[in-house]
Amino acid sequence: MSGGFLMVLSGPSGSGKGTVSEALMKKNNEIVFSTSVTTRTPRPNEINGDNYFFTTIDEFERMVEEDELLEYAFVHTNYYGTPKKFVFDEIEKGEIVLLEIDVQGALQIKEKYKEAVFIFLLPPKMSELKNRLIKRDTETEEEINTRYKNAFKELDFVGEYDYFVVNNKVEQAVEDIENIIAAERLRVKRHKNIKEQVL
Ligand code: 5GP
Repeated sequence: MSGGFLMVLSGPSGSGKGTVSEALMKKNNEIVFSTSVTTRTPRPNEINGDNYFFTTIDEFERMVEEDELLEYAFVHTNYYGTPKKFVFDEIEKGEIVLLEIDVQGALQIKEKYKEAVFIFLLPPKMSELKNRLIKRDTETEEEINTRYKNAFKELDFVGEYDYFVVNNKVEQAVEDIENIIAAERLRVKRHKNIKEQVL
């Protein structure tokens, strides 16, 4: 009975989107991750084609011009975008496609795809964000400050989302998202012939 759909996960830098989505996908093999394209420099542990498709500004602009991206945005200091073809192919196969994107991108998706599900991941307290950003030690001090400042701007958009999940403990955040998926699968609008099935 379950059809595929788009699931958008946003949240400020340091809210733990990466950790939560990784744990979520490990437990649920019907969820596929949409690998974004970015002009950002890879971090030491990142793998091209796995975490992101790392690319040049010229190539990114070409993708925009040729309408290859479902959405894109300039986040912090770099371009990020979602390749369109992968998303539609996977939904067609009945998969849940997870987009881990910023609020600007989420708003673009919301305009175009009403049936997508929007989840905002929150830290237990905003003050905790900065500690996490410092601890993960992947950005310069200037980048940490930009990300922390942007976190407050992103928080203003939480009202645009369908659900919020607090990432206090990763396992709990994963369970909350699994519960959201279970509820979304039972949405009447996602099923065309419920009546026929019970007759
Ligand atoms: P990071 O550089 O920490 O990997 O990501 C920075 C921000 O860009 C995060 O908020 C992340 O969710 C967002 N982001 C990653 N991929 C995309 C994308 O394809 N589109 C948009 N709009 N944002 C993205």
